[in-house]
Amino acid sequence: MNEKIEKSEEDWKKELSPEQYLIMREKGTEAPFTGEYVHTKDKGMYACAACGNQLFSSDTKFESGSGWPSFDQAIPGSIELHEDDSFGTRRTEVTCAKCGAHLGHLFDDGPKETTGQRYCINSACLLLNKEENHV
Ligand code: FE
Repeated sequence: MNEKIEKSEEDWKKELSPEQYLIMREKGTEAPFTGEYVHTKDKGMYACAACGNQLFSSDTKFESGSGWPSFDQAIPGSIELHEDDSFGTRRTEVTCAKCGAHLGHLFDDGPKETTGQRYCINSACLLLNKEENHV
């Protein structure tokens, strides 16, 4: 399984952009419809922008209309879920299982025909490794 990555906040600050640091280490959220991957349809694997852990396949991405990249399932074992009671509502926080980075939240209003789940993920936390060889 994944080896955990532990780094000091000082090191993360050096490696991540200011926006990525705010989202991934301080649980921020990018403004809706501003992220790089909101409407991306390219095929490939979305990895954690902080550690490279493979998180979501493009095959599971769907248009949710929320303004954030949305997926109906994650690569098994790649993420961890946490109850999040901030802002007075109960939500499920999604973090990278390898480096602990905050990625977004999980909701149960995803596509009924598949999993019914909606992983609502900040673009800034993702890096799409495109499939180069597909026809
Ligand atoms: Fe990570």
